[in-house]
This record gives sequence, C-alpha cells and structure tokens, in this order.
Amino acid sequence: MTTFVLATHNQHKVDEFRGILSLEVPGFELITYDGPEPVEDGESFEANALIKARAAAEHTGMPAMADDSGLAVDALQGAPGIFSARWAGEPKSDERNLALVLEQLEQVPHGQRGAAYVCVIAVVYPATETSPATEFTVEARWSGHLVHEPKGSNGFGYDPIFVPEGSDKTSAELEPAQKNALSHRARALALVAEQLKG
Ligand code: IMP
Repeated sequence: MTTFVLATHNQHKVDEFRGILSLEVPGFELITYDGPEPVEDGESFEANALIKARAAAEHTGMPAMADDSGLAVDALQGAPGIFSARWAGEPKSDERNLALVLEQLEQVPHGQRGAAYVCVIAVVYPATETSPATEFTVEARWSGHLVHEPKGSNGFGYDPIFVPEGSDKTSAELEPAQKNALSHRARALALVAEQLKG
C-alpha cells in the first residue's frame, strides 16, 4: 500500500483524485495535507504544482501530489493561464473572471476563440536516508472554444463559456459525470495512474 498526501483544501479535488487513482492503482491511498501552504509564485502550471507537492512532501515526509490548472485562451496568448483563479483581481470571483474574459474577447470572431483547460499534476517522493527526492509531472489539456454568452449552471469557473471539442454544449451544461470523464483533470489523473502502475 502507498499512501499519498494531496496538497489541496478542495474536497471535490480530493474526491476526484481518490475516485480515479484508487480504482486504477492497486494499494493507492490518499489523505489531505493540512500543513503550511507555500507561496505559489511559479511562472507555469508545472512550477506551481511542484511548489505545492514539494512543500507537502517535505512537511509530511510522505509521497505527495498537487495539481495546478487554468484556462489558456489562444487570442489572449495563453492567458489567463496560471492567473485563472484571480484574473479579475481580488477578491477572487468566478463571475468577474468570466466577465473579464468575455470583455477581452468581445471583438474576436467565432473561428478565433480557441481555448483549452490545462492541468498539471506533480508527484514528489521525499528524500530518504538512502535516496534523494524524486519527482515527476504530467500535463493534460481539454481543448475547445469560448462562446459569447454564458450557458449552463453546472461546474464552476469558466465552464459556462467553454465548449469542449466535439460537443455543442458548454462544460457547465454537461452532467458532472460527463465532465469528470473528459476533463483536463481526468486526463492528467489517467496519466498519473499510468506512471504509478509503472
Ligand atoms: P485550480 O488551480 O484547479 O484551483 O484552478 C485555478 C482556476 O482555473 C480556477 O479558479 C478556475 O478559474 C480555472 N479552472 C480550472 N479548472 C477548471 C474547470 O474544470 N472549470 C472551470 N474553470 C476551471
């Protein structure tokens, strides 16, 4: 059995990680990390996921994982990216973030509104007396485009304006189970499962 600590306070993430990884990886157990939170001052999803997972591994001495995710909009050169949660500033507001992206894309026509949700998961094994710390990251994308008018009430964040490739609904109109099967997080978790199964 291997017990990992997940660096998040978000119960939905805990359920999603546990749901996928304990099904796929024999002996997988997950607990949450409640130690001090590091400053997330990385310049990429990967850097921020590593900052969180390294802090949890160092603090607990246990193998740790963390994710970082966001929306990358083609017409905004990849923004809001790592700033997705606070794109419209403090206090953090999904509604104002979405409104700001729509405003920034006001003049951008349908064919040029490509965007992708990106998720990076970092896994860190702490150093032991005999071996140095080791780590790996995986990255997954969920591509689509952004519509002009928000639609749907499921999900969170930018879901009401994100239409995944191959769908005619926004990700806020998908059933939670459908979204959880397709999303950037689900895809990244599948990659982690492959690595852990070795
Ligand atoms: P976190 O790093 O997973 O907490 O996500 C950072 C931000 O990215 C969130 O606050 C949302 O603005 C955006 N985001 C990440 N994943 C999703 C998603 O599945 N739907 C909508 N917004 C998301």
